[in-house]
Amino acid sequence: MANATHSPKLSASLDGQGVPPRVRFCPSPTGNPHVGLVRTALFNWAFARHTGGTMVFRIEDTDAARDSEESYNQLLDSLRWLGLDWDEGPDEKGGPHAPYRQSQRMDIYADIAKRLQDAGHAYDCYCTTAELDERRDAARKAGRPSGYDGHCRDLGAEQIEEYRAEGRTSIVRFRMPDETITFNDLVRGELTFTPENVPDYGIVRANGAPLYTLVNPVDDALMEITHVLRGEDLLSSTPRQIALYKALIDIGAAKDIPLFGHLPYVMGEGNKKLSKRDPEASLNLYRERGFLPEGLLNYLSLLGWSFSADQDIFSVADLVEKFDIADVNSNPARFDLKKAEAVNADHIRLLDVPAFTEACTPWLRAPHANWPEENFDQAAWEAIAPYAQTRLTVLSDITVNVDFLFLDQPVEDEASWTKAMKGDPVALLTTARAKLADADWTSPEALKAAVLAAGEEHGLKLGKAQAPVRVAVTGRTVGLPLFESLQILGEERSLQRIDAALAKLAA
Ligand code: GLU
Ligand code: ZN
Repeated sequence: MANATHSPKLSASLDGQGVPPRVRFCPSPTGNPHVGLVRTALFNWAFARHTGGTMVFRIEDTDAARDSEESYNQLLDSLRWLGLDWDEGPDEKGGPHAPYRQSQRMDIYADIAKRLQDAGHAYDCYCTTAELDERRDAARKAGRPSGYDGHCRDLGAEQIEEYRAEGRTSIVRFRMPDETITFNDLVRGELTFTPENVPDYGIVRANGAPLYTLVNPVDDALMEITHVLRGEDLLSSTPRQIALYKALIDIGAAKDIPLFGHLPYVMGEGNKKLSKRDPEASLNLYRERGFLPEGLLNYLSLLGWSFSADQDIFSVADLVEKFDIADVNSNPARFDLKKAEAVNADHIRLLDVPAFTEACTPWLRAPHANWPEENFDQAAWEAIAPYAQTRLTVLSDITVNVDFLFLDQPVEDEASWTKAMKGDPVALLTTARAKLADADWTSPEALKAAVLAAGEEHGLKLGKAQAPVRVAVTGRTVGLPLFESLQILGEERSLQRIDAALAKLAA
């Protein structure tokens, strides 16, 4: 092997002195975006924005069988919705290292693989799967390391000819140097890997297709990435990549080895690793339920990082100002849906009223609305919105809270009806209707006084007296402040609904 003539120091020029960081987010476009992916994107983005660095967005779509255009479009759409922008990327943004889709960079990988092989950093391996399996089993039984045993490292020309004559195909394998690899992880501190644990590994398939093991570090090198911030699940590939980097420097394809920081695992229910297949991992779910981007980003940033000891609600701008990769914790983080919802609820409260009113509009339209489109009344919505803002956990909660305003008749909810229409609801509703008809409808206080007085006549406290009125008018036992709701619905429609309830009770 043509030994590297110098032993490059990890990121000699990348110790934070004067070189603006270049980070990357490089998902594979498979399936739906999930929260783990978003957390990785967010930490890279926040680090880039905090340091005035560059956010590179690259698509790792070298696996045609699994990658899809639909998933690619979803990734772009999700990042845009979240407001995680990029400085170089596969869309119209482009950049000096275009193309940013690996499927369009195949010539580059073929060239690098050849140069690595020419320099002796990689070699053809002719072993069959059956042979590899057999030798692995034997090594295990003998208590030896069971990774690739280096069989094809130094094949003679004759042997190679023989293998070819047998019709064998070959993959390209990277030759790992026989040395211990140590690096200083930005999150986990110094990590050391001994050579027996990092065997030679495949970088190009028999059909010529380059593997993740090659294309990911090659692009990081060519795109001059300075900080690789990614999930802990990729930690085992890091020593191999560092060795590959040294080889890339040797052949003149890389300048430096980036710094690495491995973000902690995200645990789900039952202390199991949150899988991208878990329903609560799906980003679309949060979006459809009406999480605010800033609420979701706030929560996801807490998976491995904290803003301060006594504050866990903050804006994206605050996050950018404060975020440092050095503050990320290496312990696994637990994904807590209740906490995510609570953080989102806080962000809903923080919106100004016009922003809140606007943010809810998708849930006041088809397909979310359960009323005909033409029934929607913007003035009524704007009047009720401030009362709704303090009550929602997610924006989609708004639909059932205001449907009484836009439905011709309140929803029929039998459980609510049975619960509220207890005792003598006819007597109570008859009295309440009479007193409401005499009340001043410009004042919710006056409407409250009317229902209070009706309750007193029948020995009922306000809570008990207003329940039948609420169900008569809104169809539900719980909802927005009742007297404001009545006022906004209006005298005529409110009284009609009480009449309709009385008719139903009489039947
Ligand atoms: N495409 C790889 C993945 O999604 C990227 C890994 C990395 O960040 O190095 O797993
Ligand atoms: Zn081999």
